[in-house]
Amino acid sequence: QISIRNLKKAYGDFTVLHGIDLDIAEGEVVCVVGPSGSGKSTLIRCINRLEGFSEESSIEIDGLPVKRGPELAQVRAEVGMVFQNFNLFPHMSVVRNVMLAPMRVRGTSAEKARSHALALLKRVGISEQAEKYPAQLSGGQQQRVAIARALAMEPRVMLFDEPTSALDPEMVGEVLDVMRDLAGTGVTMIIVTHEMGFARQVADRVIFMDGGRVVEAGTPAAIFDSPQEARTRDFLRAVL
Ligand code: ATP
Ligand code: MG
Repeated sequence: QISIRNLKKAYGDFTVLHGIDLDIAEGEVVCVVGPSGSGKSTLIRCINRLEGFSEESSIEIDGLPVKRGPELAQVRAEVGMVFQNFNLFPHMSVVRNVMLAPMRVRGTSAEKARSHALALLKRVGISEQAEKYPAQLSGGQQQRVAIARALAMEPRVMLFDEPTSALDPEMVGEVLDVMRDLAGTGVTMIIVTHEMGFARQVADRVIFMDGGRVVEAGTPAAIFDSPQEARTRDFLRAVL
């Protein structure tokens, strides 16, 4: 359902992505791992065009091109994103954060948006926090709100950029648990993560990036137990 062809991205003279080709099937859970600066965030930010990319590159989601123009909003509505730092709207209650996009983008009524938002907050285990403001929540709770907010648009694809990296260690598990549940629901997930145990458990495919290239990709067992490339082995030795 996601098809990435010859994805190139440069900042001035500095090339961040050197022509990545990648196909991701509907419902697939892909974890992207690799050293700092390897282009992981840039890759997933290109998928909903938070970053522009070279003219010669193409990304399609369900056959729709991810390019500038009137269809971009339509593509973006199908893609939810969760960031390292939650990026919740601080001046809105938790439930309003989750209600906002369906009301703005889809024209959903407040009543409907609210009942859906409350159901999503229940699903991520924080229904009792609905009327609080983000600053009154723990990091793990805020990140679960961010996941609920992304799910409110009923996306077919969810992108996660190191969703647990900013969390205190005791809160990592509660966010990973929500993501693990989500992985069983058929939504396509692309997850940049340093949580190798999670990747091994949940991913259908692990992609190792280095220097703006996909160095190696395969099942968790293939990547973690018998990596073929020296760079993959070096990276795993350093992080595991
Ligand atoms: P990390 O694990 O640290 O998050 P990453 O794999 O996500 O790293 P990216 O953020 O995609 O890496 O960055 C890839 C490269 O692009 C890095 O060398 C980075 O310095 C460079 N880069 C990213 N954004 C910009 C920018 N706006 N201008 C110039 N260079 C940038
Ligand atoms: Mg990054």
